[in-house]
Amino acid sequence: MNVFSHPEFDNHEHLSFFCDPETGLKAIVAIHNTSRGPALGGCRMFPYVSDEEALRDVLRLSRGMTYKSALANLDLGGGKSVILGDPREQKTEALLEAMGKHLEGLGGQYIAAEDSGTSVPDLKVMGRHTKHVAGIIEHTAFDGQPSNGDPSPTTAYGVFVGLKAAVKHKLGREDLTGLKVAVQGIGNVGYRVAQHLKDAGAELWVYDIHPKNMQRAVDELGAHAASAEDILFLPVDVIAPCAMGAILDDNSIPLLKATVIAGAANNLLQRPDHDQALKDRGILYAPDFAINAGGIIDVFYERTGASPEEVRAHVEGIGQTLAEIFTRSDSSGTPTGAVANTLAEERFRKRTGVAETFHEQLAGSQ
Ligand code: NAD
Repeated sequence: MNVFSHPEFDNHEHLSFFCDPETGLKAIVAIHNTSRGPALGGCRMFPYVSDEEALRDVLRLSRGMTYKSALANLDLGGGKSVILGDPREQKTEALLEAMGKHLEGLGGQYIAAEDSGTSVPDLKVMGRHTKHVAGIIEHTAFDGQPSNGDPSPTTAYGVFVGLKAAVKHKLGREDLTGLKVAVQGIGNVGYRVAQHLKDAGAELWVYDIHPKNMQRAVDELGAHAASAEDILFLPVDVIAPCAMGAILDDNSIPLLKATVIAGAANNLLQRPDHDQALKDRGILYAPDFAINAGGIIDVFYERTGASPEEVRAHVEGIGQTLAEIFTRSDSSGTPTGAVANTLAEERFRKRTGVAETFHEQLAGSQ
């Protein structure tokens, strides 16, 4: 298994391989870049078929967090961790405690948050042995509502703000009354995005593989029910993908009728060149890691004591960042995803030796 010459290595600052035979813990922590601050990213538990698959996943995800946090102007670097194993069978308190002890050994260079296969209670178990876990503190969210740590409401608000910026840029309108939007995936984020859109007067089409989730949006938000086959190809203004990634590919892009793509799901492009394919079709794509940064913003602020207004203002910055991306894309002819990567690189390469603040706040809050 290659490490330094791994195709996804991309000059990672640090990689740790943890093994604890007593509890069965096998984990990898990847820290991509800390020039803006300590690396914050999810701790994923997944039954990887090989060590190679786990390494590839953690490297790719960790790098993505550097870009997401930099683009969101947070004093955070990028990192991620993976625990190799089936969370339904192998996730024990002892294993999570062992993970917490290992994280403590990294001295706060990496801070773990919830991800697929781990939950807020799991992070709290790790937190018995380290203060370097985040997303577990009850706090007041951007809207003044109490939050148990779930960042989905903030993510959804950021997506709504970003969607409005995209609509303004592409369609030249600020009033969303009558705007036609198709939302794919009516889960924690998708339902709330749909709710914001409904409140703003938009007309909604929805699809979710779980009929109950879809019916809720039909009953409570007056949305039209769509089908799995149709949801991406309806004659609407905007597609808001809030389910899974890799849906924009050689097959789907030629059939899209909407001219704006703005949703929460990660890694929407199946291949990097689909960025250009969307631009060639005149479709404005709001890069996923720019528009869905509300969650990381929420986690960052949970322990800083910032007021809801400050958090809200930061989340609303997603709209300004996207507007900058769209303008640069128009003037350079470069597709929006590539522009977002360049803008993120400008933001994390410029910053070195900054941001002890989050460390201090972290230490002070325990
Ligand atoms: P969720 O699991 O609550 O919701 C996902 C929904 O999509 C579920 O209702 C599920 O039934 C549905 N779904 C799954 N496959 C589908 C398909 N093929 N077609 C239609 N619907 C399908 O997850 P979430 O927290 O709402 O996150 C949604 C997306 O946003 C994910 O891709 C996630 O990675 C991304 N995201 C979430 C956050 C956050 O704060 N929760 C932050 C950043 C990015």
